[in-house]
Order: sequence, then C-alpha cells, then structure tokens
Amino acid sequence: MSMRVGVVGGGQLARMMIAPAVELGVELRVLAEGEGMAASLAATAVGDYKDVDTVLAFARDVDVITFDHEHVPQPVLRALVEAGVPVHPGPDALRFAQDKLEMRRRLAELGAPQPDWAAVADEDELRAFLGDHGGRAVVKTPRGGYDGKGVRVVSDASDAFDWFASWDGPLLVEELVPFTRELAQQVARRAGGEVVAYPVVETVQRDGVCAEVIAPAPRASEKLLEVAARLGVTIAEGLGVTGMLAVELFETEGERILVNELAMRPHNSGHWTQDGAVTSQFEQHLRAVLDLPLGATDPLADWAVMVNILGGPADGGLTDRFATAMTDHATAKIHTYGKDPRPGRKVGHVNVVGDDLEDVVYEARAAAEYFS
Ligand code: ADP
Repeated sequence: MSMRVGVVGGGQLARMMIAPAVELGVELRVLAEGEGMAASLAATAVGDYKDVDTVLAFARDVDVITFDHEHVPQPVLRALVEAGVPVHPGPDALRFAQDKLEMRRRLAELGAPQPDWAAVADEDELRAFLGDHGGRAVVKTPRGGYDGKGVRVVSDASDAFDWFASWDGPLLVEELVPFTRELAQQVARRAGGEVVAYPVVETVQRDGVCAEVIAPAPRASEKLLEVAARLGVTIAEGLGVTGMLAVELFETEGERILVNELAMRPHNSGHWTQDGAVTSQFEQHLRAVLDLPLGATDPLADWAVMVNILGGPADGGLTDRFATAMTDHATAKIHTYGKDPRPGRKVGHVNVVGDDLEDVVYEARAAAEYFS
C-alpha cells in the first residue's frame, strides 16, 4: 500500500510527524517555507504555500495533503480539491480555523458554549458592545493571529482605532471571560467517520504563549472530562474536521467550559501524548488523514506534564546544557526542533510522565529550566 503524506509547512509540527511516519512506513514529504526549517530532515521541497502552482506541483507526488499550519489560502486549497487531491482537513473545515468570526458563527449554529461575541465594523459598534459587557472586552483580528498577537483587551472603543483603520472587514469582539483556567480538548477524526478523544488537559499561558500543559487536567471531575470530550467530538463532526482537532477552552466557575478557538492540526497542548499516551497526536494525525483506523488515546501514566523550551538570548551552549539536563533528569524526555533560538521562540519541549503530579511537574520544569 502506498502511503505518501505531503505536509504543507516545515515547522516543528511537521518535524514531529517524521518519527511516527518512519515507524508506520508512511513516506512523509514537506513543503517548507525556506531552507533549514525544523522539518527539513524529511524529504523537503521549498516553496511558497500561497502559490497555487507550487502547491499543486508538490501535491503531484503524494496521496494526501495535510498541514503544519492553517495559513494556506482558500483558493489554493480549493484548487487542490478540484485537481482531485485528498486534502485533510479540507477547505470547508479549515475555514473555521482560519477565521475566528466564521468560527463563532458556526459554533453558534452548533449550539457550542462560547463567550458572548459580536462582529464590529467600527468604534460605535464596539462602544455598544462594551456598554453591554461591563466596559471591558477582548478585540481580535479574525485572521492571522497566533500566540496572542491579534488579541487585545480594550476598555474604550478608541483602544482598537488602529485595527479599525488597517483591517479590511469587521473585527471580532468577545466578552472578557473571567476564566479560572484554560483547558484544551483534542480529538481525531478520519474521513471514514471514526472519532476518538484524548483526555482534556490544562494549559498554562505566559504572555500569550503556551508555557505548560498538564494531562489530564488536574481536579477535573468525570463530568467535565465527559462534557469536554463530547464537545470536541460534536465540533469535529459538525465542522467535518479530518485529522487532529484541538479545541481551546476557558473554564469558569462551576466547571463551565467555553470555546476559545480551534486548531485543525497537531497542537502544542498535545505534545504530552508523544511520551504520555498510547498513540501520540502526530501518529494519530497521520492515521486520520490517511483514513486508517485510529489508535488508543489512553494515558500511559496518571500524569503527563509538558513544559515548553523558549529560546533566550544566551542560547549559545545548548549542547552543554542538553547533557546536564539529561544527567540530572533522566526521566525527562527532551524534544528539540532544530530551530535557531530567539527570545520567546518555541525551540523545544520537555515531557515527563509519572504517578505523582508534584514530582512530574518538578522534573519537567527543572529539566526545561536548563535551557532558559
Ligand atoms: P491566538 O489565536 O493568538 O492564540 P487566542 O484567541 O487563543 O489567540 O487568545 C490568546 C489568549 O488571550 C488566550 O489564551 C486567553 O488567555 C486570552 N483570551 C482570548 N480571548 C479571551 C476572552 N474572550 N476572555 C478572556 N481572555 C481571553
């Protein structure tokens, strides 16, 4: 059986598909944005993912196209589909991960719990929303945001004047959710319809960037685990997602959950599965996009903790610190992305699994500490 997967985007998510691809006997090809990217150890073509001809040429030698990011323009996605290339997730699903306004509208139709929101075309409309929501709200650019860029807390309609001036179309405004913590629910769905869910996890962000993940979410009741999993499945089915789906959630008082946003690809909140679950999200994504039977999602221990390694200005001696971290923290699984460290840039992560949460958190943080 020929199983060739083409991944558009050469970042760490594509890179981390390489090991499971080798194990499964899947041939992985990557269309990277430039030379020397994180996924360049796979068979790599370099080209512009916004250019139809480049992407069509790349797709000629693979059985299915999938993604490392959500930025491939709709016309390019549609051209692939018209050329008969299986695309997972397909354009009709992906648009809800590309545009937060479209996502809000569709989730409302599905009856999924979400923050109060509105599309606002100008400062008057934003002022009206602020008036109805206690004077503070969160304004978001519908497209192109990541790691908190394109998200702004406002307390006056003029706080978003620059975005109104430069953005083509309405902005998204949401109530400022008084969340107690952030969670993420991952599910995988294959074209044939089978869906599986991972346990909901807690995600900790610092400066808008994911810093740590604890799996499963501590103190989560059976009911919360079940409600979150069911919500993930409902969204995957309702939006026709194929591959991995991450549903980022806010938890508020009384274990209520609200959808923040969606990612239709492996996600930072699921890196723990590499060492903490029977089937990692990267293997699962490959199985799902190839429409193969999905793997078990059970955790391998009571707890798994993932701590991101962010690049700092003093990253010169990465290899020295690598050896020390390995010596002092033999249970830590250290993953690096082959990226040039820059302040705040995600360059790797550490996973630790075990049965004592305090211990696992300590080991994961301590090992990651060597790199920051
Ligand atoms: P990005 O697409 O850049 O990841 P998100 O929409 O996930 O942006 O928002 C980034 C962070 O901003 C969230 O993780 C959360 O901490 C905060 N945030 C976003 N929306 C809201 C909201 N409606 N209420 C409160 N905090 C929010």
